[in-house]
Amino acid sequence: MSVVPQPLARLIADLNRLPGIGKKTATRLALHLLRRPATEAQNLARDLVELHKLITLCANCFAFSETDPCAICQDPARDSAMICVVEEPDDLMAIEKTSAYKGTYHILHGVLAPMDGIGPEELKVDALVNRVNRQQVREVLIATSSTVPGEATAAYLIKLLQERAKARVTRLAYGIPMGMDIKHADELTLVHAIEARQETSRAGR
Ligand SMILES: [Zn+2]
Repeated sequence: MSVVPQPLARLIADLNRLPGIGKKTATRLALHLLRRPATEAQNLARDLVELHKLITLCANCFAFSETDPCAICQDPARDSAMICVVEEPDDLMAIEKTSAYKGTYHILHGVLAPMDGIGPEELKVDALVNRVNRQQVREVLIATSSTVPGEATAAYLIKLLQERAKARVTRLAYGIPMGMDIKHADELTLVHAIEARQETSRAGR
């Protein structure tokens, strides 16, 4: 017979299934919840139940949203002829935080990973091409990460969109972070910084 009460063992097993949570951390979190007031665990349980009940995918951009279409796709102040393609919903959140972008988004929900069986069919790629053509999109900004899979996905999308859509296709410029010494930048960052170099103004001419 196990010394761990069944409900606690079940919670540990549930937490252990989450990414980055090992058995030890799962046990610590479960014990923490048990020691805290019951209302905290109840609030957590309510949030978990409501997650799937109240949140849906926007059928246009595939963002998680309480409405379909989502608030961004519905917003008339947004430029619907501009689409920023990102890997994950948290990439959208990061770009939104800057307030520098006023177009719409398209969330792929992953990157190409042939070794893991993730091809274009597993991502929202066809939906992107159809949307670009259907909504007469002017520009598609590919904002996947500057990781190896992110770059491979960007290269694939750029080629596909150039073949199958009329929109201008742009890519986020990556460079040396502000305040960073060039000698501390990694190779990939330096390569991108060189490739995305900008024209300097010609003062005095
Ligand atoms: Zn949307």
